[in-house]
Amino acid sequence: KLLDEEKIVDMVVGPDAYKDLPNLIKEVDSGRDAVNVILSKDETYGDIAPVRLNTNGVTAFVSITRGCDNMCTFCVVPFTRGRERSRDPQSILAEIQELSRKGFKEITLLGQNVDSYLWYGGGLKKNFENASEMQKATATNFSKLLDMVALAYPKMRIRFSTSNPQDMTLDVIKTMAAHKNICNHIHLPVQSGSNRILKEMNRLHTIEEYFELIDNIRKIIPDCAISQDIISGFPTETEEDHADTLKALEYVKYDFGYMYAYSERPGTLAGRKMEDDVPEPIKKRRLSEIIALQRSHCQFRTEKHVGKIQEVLIEGTSKKSKNEWMGRNSQSTVVVFPKENYKIGDFVNVQINDCTSATLKGVAVGYSDNN
Ligand code: SF4
Repeated sequence: KLLDEEKIVDMVVGPDAYKDLPNLIKEVDSGRDAVNVILSKDETYGDIAPVRLNTNGVTAFVSITRGCDNMCTFCVVPFTRGRERSRDPQSILAEIQELSRKGFKEITLLGQNVDSYLWYGGGLKKNFENASEMQKATATNFSKLLDMVALAYPKMRIRFSTSNPQDMTLDVIKTMAAHKNICNHIHLPVQSGSNRILKEMNRLHTIEEYFELIDNIRKIIPDCAISQDIISGFPTETEEDHADTLKALEYVKYDFGYMYAYSERPGTLAGRKMEDDVPEPIKKRRLSEIIALQRSHCQFRTEKHVGKIQEVLIEGTSKKSKNEWMGRNSQSTVVVFPKENYKIGDFVNVQINDCTSATLKGVAVGYSDNN
C-alpha cells in the first residue's frame, strides 16, 4: 500500500532484511521499487554489536531471542518479528564482556519469551525435536544461560524480561535463587484472571497453573517482586471475567504492572476473527478499577521495604530533585536518596525510611560489597 497506492516510500525493508540493503538501494537507484520483508529462520543479528543511543552508561539491554512461536490472539509479534530464534550463548557472553569493559553494571536479557530460549546450534526450535542426542545433551536452555552469565560476571547485576507463564520452569527460579547477582524481580504477564478469556487469548495456561507458579516463586524466593501486564475489555469479556481479573490481582498483589484497555491491532488473530464488542466506557471503567486496585498493592509492596537496608545501583539524578540520586533495588523499585559523594554506577546500601506507591526514599549508609 505504501509503495503502490500511496507512493510515499521507495523501499520496504523488514527487520531481517538489513543485510540486503545494498541490493535494495541499487534497485531503487535503477528506478524500481524494492521490497524485502522476508523473515529469517535463523538469528541474523547475533554478531552485530548494537549502537546504544542515549545510554546512561550503567544499564543495558542484551537481546537473547527474537520473534515468538506463541500465537496469543491479541499480539502482532509473531507476524512482524517472525519465528522465535535464539542467539548463540557465546555471542551473548561476548556482548556482556564488552559492556562490562565499558563500565556497565546491569544488564537485562531481553526476548519476547525468554523462558523458551534454546540454543542447540541455531535454526528453528522445531528442528530440536529431530536433533541428535549429542546436540540435546549440549543444548543451552534459559536457566543454563542465566547460570552461565551469572557465574561469568559475578559483579554484574542481571535482569531478564519477558517471562511467559506457560514456559517458565522451576529451574529458572532456582537459578535466580542460587545467584546473588540475579535480581529478584519477574515480569510475569497474566493478561486476564478468567480461564475463559485466557483461552480466547490463546494463552496456554490456566489461572490455577499461573497461581501455582506464583506460589513456587514465593516459596523459593520469598522477597521476589512480581509485575504484570493486564488487558481489560478483551472481546467477549463479561463482568464475571473482569471480577476474576480483580481476584487474580488480590491473589498475587503485584509490585507493579502495565495495564491497558483492549484495542484491536490490525493483523492479529483477534483483529481478524473477533468482534471488539466491549463498549469503550465499560472497558475504561474496568481498567480504572484494575488500576486503582493495583495502586493499593503497589503501596502495600513498597511499604514492605521501609525500615530495611537495600543495595541500590545509581542510574542518574532523580527527576524531582537535582540533589538526589535515583537508582533501583533488586526488586526493580525506584529508590531516591541524597547524593553526598556517591556517583552514577556505584552500588550503595540505602536505609529506606519512607515510600510512596512507586518510590522508596532513604539515606545512603555506605558502599555495598559489589563495588
Ligand atoms: S504476547 Fe508474548 S508470548 Fe504471546 S505471542 Fe506476543 S510475544 Fe509471543
